[in-house]
Amino acid sequence: MEKRISGTTGLFTLLGSPVGHSGSPAMYNFSFQKQGLDYAYLAFDVKKEQMPQAIDALRLFKVRGSNVTMPCKSIAATLVDDLSPAAKIIGAINVIVNDNGKLTGHITDGIGFVRNLKETGVDIKGKKLVVLGAGGAATALQVQCALDGAKEISIFNQDDEFYQNAEKTKEKIGQAKPEVKVNVYPLADQAKLKAEIAQADILVNATIVGMKPLDGQSLVDKSYLRSDLVVADTVYNPLKTKLIEDAETLGCTIAPGKGMLLWQGAAAYSLFTGKEMPTAEYQAYEQ
Ligand code: NAD
Repeated sequence: MEKRISGTTGLFTLLGSPVGHSGSPAMYNFSFQKQGLDYAYLAFDVKKEQMPQAIDALRLFKVRGSNVTMPCKSIAATLVDDLSPAAKIIGAINVIVNDNGKLTGHITDGIGFVRNLKETGVDIKGKKLVVLGAGGAATALQVQCALDGAKEISIFNQDDEFYQNAEKTKEKIGQAKPEVKVNVYPLADQAKLKAEIAQADILVNATIVGMKPLDGQSLVDKSYLRSDLVVADTVYNPLKTKLIEDAETLGCTIAPGKGMLLWQGAAAYSLFTGKEMPTAEYQAYEQ
């Protein structure tokens, strides 16, 4: 490390709270070193109300780029100079690129989701999706799938504060990509859920159900699944949720959340450095 850090080393950061558990510093610093890049990546615990100061600090210290995590993704989108097309629609960012003082916000969660599917041999183009959830991860992947050519997206959510979000996403996709059909249904309508899954190519869980401490739970009855359905999850802790395990037992193609996490990070790395992240080497190193 003492040989790697010099007076010219460019800084990348992670902003959000909490950040102590994040795997990003290890992943990006490993990749910088592997590719001989004179960069370093550090995490800073920043609360939502401190984001204006943090963004000023990025400018002051000429930080090359930053990731943004919860709970700062939405406020950060209001503080940068420009937004990517997906970030504009979603109104949240997880990446900031500092291009000689101009800060551009991007959102790579949806890009990571689509790439994760691609890695399992599934092309999103022309597909019908059923997505459970209407929070941050759900919205990001719904918008990206629409931008990348999905045919139809049926969103199911429980009756909570996120339900309205689904209606807003429907409206926004309708404006940006009117050819994509978006339906919003209450999760309580199990007959509808069963019928929609029966007609879908891809089923996605983008809720917190399945994540610790809700591990062992699934929102989808196993009998709704069939072997030619692609089943994806955004949850990465545990590595395999009950939904993913049920799907795997039935022989479905599966795309667990860990892959989405890796590929959203890799997409950010490309925005930061203009290079492909050495993902295979990092995965081998991590194990
Ligand atoms: P969020 O808080 O923004 O949204 C939560 C969603 O879960 C909402 O749709 C809410 O209605 C739903 N929900 C909550 N409790 C529920 C219940 N008991 N029954 C049914 N639905 C319920 O959360 P988020 O940031 O979108 O994260 C969702 C999951 O995605 C988390 O597990 C998170 O770790 C994961 N995630 C993964 C990645 C990745 O790269 N793999 C990226 C972002 C988030």
